[in-house]
Amino acid sequence: MIILLFTAIVLLFANWWLLKQKRLLKTNVEMYNNLAHEFRTPLTNINLAAGLIHKGPEGGDQKLLDIIKRENGKLMQQVERILHLARLDNGEYDLKRESLPLRALLKNVIDELQIQIEERNANVTIDEIPENLDIYGDQQHLANVFRNLIDNGLKYTSDKPVISISAMEEGKNVIISVEDNGIGIPSSQNSMIFEKFQRVHHGNLHEQKGFGLGLAYVKKIIELHKGKIEVASEVNKGSCFNVYLPKYC
Ligand code: ADP
Repeated sequence: MIILLFTAIVLLFANWWLLKQKRLLKTNVEMYNNLAHEFRTPLTNINLAAGLIHKGPEGGDQKLLDIIKRENGKLMQQVERILHLARLDNGEYDLKRESLPLRALLKNVIDELQIQIEERNANVTIDEIPENLDIYGDQQHLANVFRNLIDNGLKYTSDKPVISISAMEEGKNVIISVEDNGIGIPSSQNSMIFEKFQRVHHGNLHEQKGFGLGLAYVKKIIELHKGKIEVASEVNKGSCFNVYLPKYC
């Protein structure tokens, strides 16, 4: 009788605790969503307004407009990351899986990052990837994954960034490697960078700003594709992010 009573109390407590956690998660997701939407509207308006302002007589305003657009773009990207992660945390993911030609997907991402690449005078190559190598997954999310990895390669490099992207087939997987010549990551922090809001502090005055959300999103998306991500890195030499994706999920 006592054991039964005890078991019932434990079960009731576990149930109450689970419901509480679920409520908390829902409130968190709602809070993230509201926050992101509050930011999104003014950012969209700024972008529209910047697009409508005419160039000054000597083209002098163009530089300022470019700055507004670039900074607006950065904020938009952070807002999208928060929204994506909130949705993923809430179990809201609708992956549209299809066969994707890897080279074309990467080429597209690199084209979209052209302004940042030119600004950093960087060299981003995909030379080794054959035209006929396909991966299987959600085009938008996987493009975001590689955009984040290349963007980080550009951000966390003090000299002229050299980023080389390669891919190879290994059994049922395609391994895509994004390698940079950047500042590197201390080995003690290799796994923590994939957790939300975790960043490595390098004690540099001009340290790159960020929220530590990009790699958490990347990891989550890769895992939803039944793949994995690993990093090999050496401080002051560079980092190599290896993405394992099954050819067919
Ligand atoms: P954010 O860049 O916004 O801080 P991320 O989740 O993309 O967020 O990255 C987490 C942390 O991992 C970064 O703050 C940085 O310290 C480290 N990091 C990520 N990519 C690289 C890289 N290619 N080289 C060096 N450090 C990196």
